[in-house]
Amino acid sequence: MKSLQDSVIVLPGVGPKRLEHLNNLGIYTIEDLLTYFPFRYNDFQVRSIENIADQEKVVLKGQAITEAVVSHYGYRKNRLNFKMLQDHAVINVTFFNQHYLQKQVVQGEDIAVFGKWDDKRKSLTGIKILSSGNQEDEFSPIYHVNKHIRQRTLVDLIGKGLDEYQELIEEWLPESLIQKYHFLGRKEAVKEMHFPQDMAMNEEARRRIIFDEFFEFQMRMQELRYQEKILSQGLEILYDVEQLKAFIAALPFELTNAQKQVTNDICRDLRSPLHMHRLLQGDVGSGKTVVAAIILFAAVSAGYQGALMVPTEILAEQHFISLVKLFETFDVKIALLTGSTKAKERREILADLASHQLDIIIGTHALIQEGVNFHKLGLVITDEQHRFGVNQRKLLREKGDNPDVLFMTATPIPRTLAITAYGEMDVSIIDELPAGRIPIVTRWVRPKQLETVLEWSKKELQKGHQIYVICPLIEESEALDLKNAEETYALLDHFFAPDYQVGLLHGRMKANEKETIMENFKNKSLDILVSTTVIEVGVDVPNATIMLIMDADRFGLAQLHQLRGRVGRGSKASYCVLVADPKNDTGVERMKIMTETNDGFVLSQKDLEMRGPGEFFGVRQSGIPQFLVGDIVADFNMLELARQEAVAIWQEEQWQQQPENHGLSEYLERHQGQSEFD
Ligand code: ADP
Ligand code: MG
Repeated sequence: MKSLQDSVIVLPGVGPKRLEHLNNLGIYTIEDLLTYFPFRYNDFQVRSIENIADQEKVVLKGQAITEAVVSHYGYRKNRLNFKMLQDHAVINVTFFNQHYLQKQVVQGEDIAVFGKWDDKRKSLTGIKILSSGNQEDEFSPIYHVNKHIRQRTLVDLIGKGLDEYQELIEEWLPESLIQKYHFLGRKEAVKEMHFPQDMAMNEEARRRIIFDEFFEFQMRMQELRYQEKILSQGLEILYDVEQLKAFIAALPFELTNAQKQVTNDICRDLRSPLHMHRLLQGDVGSGKTVVAAIILFAAVSAGYQGALMVPTEILAEQHFISLVKLFETFDVKIALLTGSTKAKERREILADLASHQLDIIIGTHALIQEGVNFHKLGLVITDEQHRFGVNQRKLLREKGDNPDVLFMTATPIPRTLAITAYGEMDVSIIDELPAGRIPIVTRWVRPKQLETVLEWSKKELQKGHQIYVICPLIEESEALDLKNAEETYALLDHFFAPDYQVGLLHGRMKANEKETIMENFKNKSLDILVSTTVIEVGVDVPNATIMLIMDADRFGLAQLHQLRGRVGRGSKASYCVLVADPKNDTGVERMKIMTETNDGFVLSQKDLEMRGPGEFFGVRQSGIPQFLVGDIVADFNMLELARQEAVAIWQEEQWQQQPENHGLSEYLERHQGQSEFD
């Protein structure tokens, strides 16, 4: 009996060699072949010149009203010119170095040209002459192929596959969803993707297939979430309410409403026997560290240990110092463990952790190494969590008996990414800054204005304030990087001598050297700190009021925003100055956006749009799945719909039992483990 799971070798024209080549594309079964969708379409639809953007690539069709004239110039260069009439407009067409096309242009006859439109000159720079009668050329699918399998071969095989097997393509969506969104049927959509009748129908097919992709993913995310929360036995962390109230009352400030709200959310999770798996987002300076301290305190009051894991040593030290201060008058034992903790101290810390002499540990990756054992780990917090891979996150969790987990991030994650990369988590957002903050003023200047800026910055220094100066990482060359920072340091040292002290901090320094420099900046023996991006996250020196960023166009928006968040942390007016000579439009746009908004969510959305999801998170480890047809940025409406529908279905715990969901549950089961999302 025929089945979609048949190997593609059953198709005529597929032998062992070709099978291997198809396998290399990930195509094993007929189903793989039929769902090997084009990633884009060549759009050779004929256009009219009224509404074409400058430099857009289009196909224009008209009557050739002159012959093609070829002229030679330079060394073996030639140019072919003719005029074409479209409606009442005369269009100049030019081909470069394709004089052999001359014969194809016949005066008085219709011709279709694919080329790049110059709106000012009303002229087309030709790329290719299309044989006007050829329908196939107009709108054709483009597949990812390799050098052994050509586009044509693939289209051919898909055609054969459809002929033989299309009746077996089953509908997997519940009828109600198809009705609700007026979707094409699955079978029709699959066919239309490969052999589009026209653009409108193809768009309908894409809409359906994109929904399918997103919906399958979201259904799996919801399943994960269900397993995380409902099925895995969590801890009931029954904290002492009175002690917790006393701790909050002793804080040097009143919590913002947003802080209170998220603290409540998290405390509810702690108390609940279900497992906590929550993401806490808050812009730089919104006060996440305090929230972390409160819930760590809660866990400790219930007799548990807590761990706080951060990506850099400087940040770990910073948090350690803040927490020690916050816990000063309370009976909480806390330690710091990083890569540079001395062997003897490390041994003691590990022993104290294992015997529960220690309540809270703060550290870097050192926390997930072999030999770090807890007595009763109840709560794990990771800060700036997208810097940790999924596996590292898991390792830390496995150190306890399924402890509650909170992920904190100061890079606001655009919603489309949050629901893909972190779709299985609960999300809390601190969307309010502590009262009394004066918005940071951001200015963009060109490098030649640097001296003016430095002169101006003396005003702040005279008030006793401090300045950060950041130099960018120059890709692939730590040496250049250092030189860059060193040169800036020398320049500033010279400029501000002898009145003000300048220090230099960079990634190549030993941990204790860094510590000394940071310490000197904090205690104000240094007025100006020149640094590479090592200070990017978390550093807290409220007396610093200027953030000066050199070559600012080399940074992404999210990173610039992080850096800017290092100032404006007290009640003093603060400034961020971007020094940059952007080489391209996106660079200019980035600088402008920075001066226009202080809202981290707005910036991160822009950043995502400008750089794409991979770049946004920096690395592939981000956990964002690759969709074949759907684009999480461009198609985010669909992504959101798919999520809502998946959530709605999972709200009914017995959804699999309902007749209308049979196709759905069978499909998901059959594709379990095959999907790249697992
Ligand atoms: P984040 O970690 O979110 O960047 P922090 O927790 O470091 O922010 O807080 C930034 C600064 O604001 C710190 O100096 C902190 O003491 C202070 N702060 C936090 N919450 C409040 C509040 N509710 N009112 C006043 N100041 C606060
Ligand atoms: Mg719990």
